[in-house]
Amino acid sequence: MTGHAVDLLVLGSGAAGLAAAVTGAAEGLSVLVLEKTEWLGGTSAYSAGTSWIPGHRHQPDPAADVAEARRYLDVLVGDRAPRELRETYLRHGPEAIEYFERLGLRFWHSASVVDYHPELPGSGIGRALEPYGNALVAALYDQLTRRSGSVWFTARTAELPSSETGLPRKAGSRTCGGAFAGPASPVRTCRADGRRPCPAVACDLLLPRR
Ligand SMILES: Cc1cc2nc3c(=O)[nH]c(=O)nc-3n(C[C@H](O)[C@H](O)[C@H](O)COP(=O)(O)OP(=O)(O)OC[C@H]3O[C@@H](n4cnc5c(N)ncnc54)[C@H](O)[C@@H]3O)c2cc1C
Repeated sequence: MTGHAVDLLVLGSGAAGLAAAVTGAAEGLSVLVLEKTEWLGGTSAYSAGTSWIPGHRHQPDPAADVAEARRYLDVLVGDRAPRELRETYLRHGPEAIEYFERLGLRFWHSASVVDYHPELPGSGIGRALEPYGNALVAALYDQLTRRSGSVWFTARTAELPSSETGLPRKAGSRTCGGAFAGPASPVRTCRADGRRPCPAVACDLLLPRR
């Protein structure tokens, strides 16, 4: 595997990796996704793909919803994850959804869905957005391949590629291995660094740095 230069190399074809890949491709980067299995989508392919996005545009008062969701996450997460991570999530979640909608993905507002912990302060209703047809991975793959991005299957990556190992890295690479860890909770569904829980969508927000 030598001599194939890309601007953005993504490891793993789950929702996190494909969202990063689609973003990179939409921003004009050449993109390659390496997937270790012969299957697309990882855990994300089993998932409903529900995105928990306080303050999205279908909420009656988006700013108030974000303020309440901040209270909810403060109680639920506390100091177990960096505050700036969830601030970024709250600030950019609606923007991320709208970005993907502009690219062609479609989500519907699941208006009656109640947060997992309705007993906590700041819990809310209607924060869930669902991908049409429960097919988030397929939709992301479609958007990626429309933009000339590609996925190589059975391409397990044992170490981050570099110019020394054959795949030159020009813009960056990122892996975000998912795990459905512990009780169902939107803040425990994704591990960005293998240790600290973080919201799945925060992992999805890999914007290419120029
Ligand atoms: C039944 C079910 C329902 C769920 N419903 C929801 C939901 O509605 N909403 C929600 O937010 N979460 C949900 N989750 C959790 C959610 O699916 C995961 O948090 C999410 O899929 C993680 O995405 P990811 O892209 O980080 O990882 P994954 O989807 O697991 O993707 C990681 C990919 O990386 C590949 N990979 C691993 N190592 C390498 C390597 N060395 N080189 C190359 N490739 C590699 C894997 O093969 C895999 O394809 C659900 C989970 C389950 C099981």
